[in-house]
Amino acid sequence: SADESDKDFVAETRKSRHSDRNMTSSTSPDFTEDGRLLFAGPCEFIFASAKAGDLPPIGPPEIAFAGRSNVGKSSLLNALTNRKTLARVSHTPGRTQQLNFFALGGPPPRLRLVDMPGYGYAAVGKEKVANWTALMRDYLRGRASLARVFLLVDARRGVKDLDEEMFELLDRSAVSYQIVLTKHDELKVAERAQALAATQAALAKRPAAYPELVFTSSQTGVGIGELRAAVARLLHERGA
Ligand code: GDP
Repeated sequence: SADESDKDFVAETRKSRHSDRNMTSSTSPDFTEDGRLLFAGPCEFIFASAKAGDLPPIGPPEIAFAGRSNVGKSSLLNALTNRKTLARVSHTPGRTQQLNFFALGGPPPRLRLVDMPGYGYAAVGKEKVANWTALMRDYLRGRASLARVFLLVDARRGVKDLDEEMFELLDRSAVSYQIVLTKHDELKVAERAQALAATQAALAKRPAAYPELVFTSSQTGVGIGELRAAVARLLHERGA
């Protein structure tokens, strides 16, 4: 049941925190309620960027979501914002290669969610990969309002070469990023612990990676509140 997976999740998170380099102290404020309120606000599609150089003007802080195609990014964005179709726009043919911007909260909006085009889709040709890379580089290079990239990794698959390439790009761009493991519900308890440990090992040598992982399921809701809280804490830390 969802209750039981919640318990697993808390236990695993506690375990993983013991090995964190920047362990959050137990006296730090809890941002769960802030996160809930933040994501309960309005959320509107505002801009699609299809090519390098074509970005919306700088506004409120941005958090971006990236990951392989099929990692569960659309489902996660919908779960975070409590909507059924928020990220449908990103799945529309012709739009899958775009950076899609959503304004969240307010008015005025407090935050922007940026849905980055999924990578690793087998059918895309060389030209599209080159366009994707140029678009990503352009966005990641010196975007002052970009607070963090949440990089989604399918817990069943673990970190693959293409994910490592993305870590590399983010490290080189000096953009802070945090890994979100997806599809928590599809793993057995022992497999969850393994997935966490393996992912943490892959991050150990990554300078720009945030040490704390979030393990989520868009189906059971596990980790969604925690991810919202992480975003609220991030906004608080930026004084936004
Ligand atoms: P995207 O390509 O990254 O946007 O991925 P989608 O959100 O479209 O999800 C890809 C597939 O994974 C779909 O079949 C979803 O139903 C499934 N999926 C996404 N999130 C979860 C999850 O938390 N648990 C399970 N079991 N399946 C999921």
